[in-house]
Amino acid sequence: KKTLRLILGDQLNQKHSWFSEENDDVLYVLMEMRQETDYVTHHIQKVVSFFSAMRAFKVELEAKGHKFLYIKINDAGNKQSLKDNIKSIIKEHKIEHFEYLLPDEYRLDQQLRSLVEEISISSNSVDTEHFLTGRNDIADFFSGKKQFLMENFYRKMRKDHDILMDGKEPIGGKWNFDHDNRNKYKGEVPIPPAYSYKNDVKEVFKDIENAGIKTIGTVDADNFHWPIDRKQALQFARYFCRELLPYFGTYQDAMHTEEQFLFHSRISFALNSKLISPRELVDKIIKAWEEDQDKINIAQVEGYIRQVIGWREYMRGIYWAKMPDYAEKNFFEHDRPLPDFYWTGKTKMKCMEKSIKQSLTEAYAHHIQRLMVTGNFALLNMTDPDEVDKWYLGIYIDAIEWVEITNTRGMSQFADGGIVGSKPYLASANYMHKMSNYCANCHYDHKKKVGEKACPFNSLYWNFYNTHRDKLAKNQRISMMYRTWDKKSDQEKEDLLKQADYYLAHADEL
Ligand code: FAD
Repeated sequence: KKTLRLILGDQLNQKHSWFSEENDDVLYVLMEMRQETDYVTHHIQKVVSFFSAMRAFKVELEAKGHKFLYIKINDAGNKQSLKDNIKSIIKEHKIEHFEYLLPDEYRLDQQLRSLVEEISISSNSVDTEHFLTGRNDIADFFSGKKQFLMENFYRKMRKDHDILMDGKEPIGGKWNFDHDNRNKYKGEVPIPPAYSYKNDVKEVFKDIENAGIKTIGTVDADNFHWPIDRKQALQFARYFCRELLPYFGTYQDAMHTEEQFLFHSRISFALNSKLISPRELVDKIIKAWEEDQDKINIAQVEGYIRQVIGWREYMRGIYWAKMPDYAEKNFFEHDRPLPDFYWTGKTKMKCMEKSIKQSLTEAYAHHIQRLMVTGNFALLNMTDPDEVDKWYLGIYIDAIEWVEITNTRGMSQFADGGIVGSKPYLASANYMHKMSNYCANCHYDHKKKVGEKACPFNSLYWNFYNTHRDKLAKNQRISMMYRTWDKKSDQEKEDLLKQADYYLAHADEL
């Protein structure tokens, strides 16, 4: 039977069993489409990365003997929508059977489900063979529970997949070495140069420009530095293991004005587009550690592996367990707009300026910048989670809804009311000062809570707790904050709330 097999832009898994044999009756299709470039305003580097990786994938697999139909963004016959394109290909190529890889995104899942109802030929879907868990494993694991504890899931993953295990016990005697992993970076060890490519992506960039796609951020199309094919992704991973892993955990939470990447792996695009699989990555990490235990200690390795087999798989499971309702969640009923400076980086708060400007130039910020700087501020500003999601879904190289929304709406904005986390991630300037050198060069004074140049994070922090007392005071992990607040004098409380009111009224000018 003449078969059409659809591959989406984030399904570039060369190791998939589909490709284990050539078959002249099978036609693979990859499509660049406006429905994907326009559902949110993306960073230019993100669109360039996806199109470049898709084009490279086609070339490599064609060389291995597979037949491909590749629809470019400006091709005359491109209908710019998944359903319309597939229907027209089925007709034109006299396709008798349609197959697709299960998408990671709810939106696309819905589209494909309705597409197969609308076409008259047979169809089926298969797994992408990328993740360690199935779509619904988390839902089954936590069935009946209100809160889904990541740590429980993570331990199960370690055991089920025999990762960092010594029989039934965790290697090193502990499941979690987070306590060893919370240092500020003061230049103690040099940071190896960021590994990068000088990919020439001018052609892709031109195509995006000619199509008139609206994007944000900047790109150097002569020296594009993200890995865009499997070989580059593997080289990136190797470099990380050799050069960065020895200090990954130690400085995982650190932030620095002059260092954008510190010891982070920047592998998220390669992972999320499936150029590399989590299992391969974990195996490389463990091998590097086994070969050089003098240089790499278990805290670094465990810290990294927890992100990949813990958090990443966990977020995907939450997504499938809770969509589509998750996208509507707004526990605090926040409705304020996202301040304009999120789109320009023009703010006097150094931590925000650095994190946002870097996001615009690099399409990247590391986890703590996303969570404790931009995410924290958006929460303290009581921003509508829809606006926050739009920003995160557009700006980052790795932003795909299943992992963006669970991190943003869930972990960072607590809009799910406590499915992903047990309390909101909130911090005042004290945290920023502890974990970074941002405050040293800031217009605002991190020690001041009220008055001129008082750091906005301080009064907004207390204002937040005060505003949401009804929703938060019952939470055991937070009740201590209310005891501290209640001990403050009426004058101090009034001054803090007044300061916060002023800042909220002038949020765009901060
Ligand atoms: P490293 O620090 O080197 O970590 C290694 C890998 O672990 C990452 O590549 C990623 O695959 C995985 N990982 C780490 N933390 C998480 C997490 N919380 N959830 C899922 N996987 C994790 N990650 C995305 O891939 N896409 C997103 O759209 C995204 N949006 C985020 C939004 C917010 C508000 C927050 C707080 C976090 C978000 N994250 C997202 C998670 C995390 O910040 C990024 O995965 C990470 O910064 C990517 O950089 P890296 O590859 O250098 O990561």
